[in-house]
Formats: sequence, structure tokens, C-alpha cells
Amino acid sequence: MIHEHYICKNCILIDGSFGIKLNSEGICNYCENPTYRTTNWWKTQITEKMKETGLKDWNSTIELMRSRQEENKYDCIVGYSGGKDSTALLYTVVHDYGFNPLAVTIDSGFIPDTAFENMKDTLKKISVDHIIIDGAKETFRKLYQWVFTNQDSNDLTLTRNLCDSCGDLVHSLVVREAMEREIAIILFGYSPDEIRRYFYEIPQHEIEHDWKPSFINRESFTEEDRKRYFTPEDFENHTVPRIILPYHVIDYNEEDIIQLIESKNLVKKGNSNTLKTSCHVIAAALFYDLNRFGALPYALQFAELIRQDPSIRKKWLITLKRLTPMIRDGKFNESGVNFTLEKIGLSKEGLLSNVRKQINQDPNREKITRNLGLF
Ligand SMILES: [Zn+2]
Repeated sequence: MIHEHYICKNCILIDGSFGIKLNSEGICNYCENPTYRTTNWWKTQITEKMKETGLKDWNSTIELMRSRQEENKYDCIVGYSGGKDSTALLYTVVHDYGFNPLAVTIDSGFIPDTAFENMKDTLKKISVDHIIIDGAKETFRKLYQWVFTNQDSNDLTLTRNLCDSCGDLVHSLVVREAMEREIAIILFGYSPDEIRRYFYEIPQHEIEHDWKPSFINRESFTEEDRKRYFTPEDFENHTVPRIILPYHVIDYNEEDIIQLIESKNLVKKGNSNTLKTSCHVIAAALFYDLNRFGALPYALQFAELIRQDPSIRKKWLITLKRLTPMIRDGKFNESGVNFTLEKIGLSKEGLLSNVRKQINQDPNREKITRNLGLF
């Protein structure tokens, strides 16, 4: 088939999208050079030594938490989104380690019903206190609106930009909660492939550093929005908590996790599917990026997995071919896309017209336009 010429023979990245170029042998930059990096993706080099050190720290952290169990009502906070990973982590912390965590959910206003349904089902089976922080919905909405209307990069994807900005606000809100309650440890269930920014622990200097994005000082944001972000000065004489991502060092197998939470009836069968629990804004961001760059941003992640295990290439190629037209045409979580655009005051047509303007100024415009029609 003609389109095979434009897809890397080794992975599945497409020539001309996200700045990818195929060489004369049909191999992409990342496959040719393992240290190749762009603003969207680079291979985080995780050595066995790093994993070992992390695991050692994790084991001693558990011991420390055990020795302090009498001191505080809660042993830690578990960031709880209702997705499969945070559900499994909550279960493990309670059942395997015997801790009493506080489950904390940040409601951005863009969380799908399935995630809330999962929380309800899980909390019938696990006895933990759970709070939903929903006071920052308007800040999240404005943040998303800003990212969607000011996206103008020729390489950085909106999905990437969005998840980074949103993640900082989510982390900030959880840190504030932990500080108010004097809880020293925060756990998030980031999976082993979510390592682009952090491995095992968010560095203390980053937590203590200002998490506010520069655009938050613009006039569309208020002092109230800015105050959502954590700054250590707000909590004098308090110790900043540690934020640990245990799945980066303990055994993690996606199928085992799904099997665990479904067999324990923590969630209904099928509700562990990430596509059902990831937030609506992501669906809209993927719609934007696919039409803007001519390829699915997730392909960068799929490609990395293929480089680690070439036997899965065919499976991911099929996934790519199936998802690409759906996302391009806005049919993938269509209600989520429409919900997001309506809330941030954009129409599909308006968004696509912005996208076309940007493609016209992109040096790769011919390839991007070609790629849009590949599948
Ligand atoms: Zn490649």
C-alpha cells in the first residue's frame, strides 16, 4: 500500500509529522538514533541502578510509614482518579501494606462519568476516607481555554502542553491538601511508561519551586486562580511532602492490574479501559493535534514500546489505522470533544480554521496535509 512508504519501517512514526524525517532506508530519527529528542518525546534512560535505588527507597519509605502509623490519622494520600492504576494502587496500599490512606480526587469538571462510577464501586469494597476537591473547576476550565486558544507551536503538541500544565495544577492542589493535614507522603499511580517528566519521585526542589505557569499572570486569570498553585511560603514551618510514583519501581503489569480490580469487583468489567476513564479534554486535544500535525501524538509512545518489543508493531499499526480516522473526524469520544469545546467556548469549525492557519505556516505543511489522508 502506498502509505507504507511514509511510515518508519521499524516503528510506526510517520514522515513529516512532529518533525519526524525518514532516512533513505525508511527509518525514522528515533530508530536511527536512540538519543534523538524533540520537545514532544525523548527516551528517558532508566537504568537498572535507578530502579534498584528507587525500590530500596520505596521499601524503606514503607517501613518509615509503618513506624509512624500511630502519629497521624492518615498514613499517606493516594491520588485517586477512578482509572485502573490509581484504583489498583489504592487497593494495594490498603490490603497489601495495611495502611490507612486518604483518597484524594481532583475534579477538574472534565472527568467522565465512568471514572466516578468506578470510584463509587471501589469505595463500596475498600473502606477508606475519600475527598473530592472541586473548588478549582473554573481555573481548570480557563487553563484549558488558554492552552487551546494560544497553541502556536510547529512541534510541541497541544496534548503534551495540556497534560503538563494540568498536571502541575493537580499536583499543587494535592500538595496543599497534604500540607493542611500534615500528611508527609503522597502517592500517584503513574504507570511505568509515564516517565517523560518524572521517574519514581517528583524532586523536592520542583515541589518547592513555583508551579505557576507564566500565562497565569495574564488578565484572563484572577488572583484566586493563581492562589490554587502551591507555594511553600503559604505554609511556613511545614515540611513539604514527598510525592512518590511507586509503579515506576515495583512490579507492574497492565493485564494483572485489570485482572486484579475486575476480579475483586472494584470496577465493573470493561470499566478499567483507559479510554473510558481518561478526561474529556484529552479527547479534544487529540482531535486538535491529529488535524494539526497529521498524526496521533500517542504514536510517539507506541513507537517507543515497539522499539522495546518489535513483535507488537503489527498490533499497534492496526490500532493506529483504526484510531486515526476516528480521532481526525472527531468521532472518538465525540460527546467528550463536544463537551470540552462548548465549555471553553470554541466550535469545531473555529478550531479547525485555527489549525489550517497554522498548517499553512508550517514548513512541513505538504507532508502534514498528505498524512491527514493516509488512513
Ligand atoms: Zn522509527
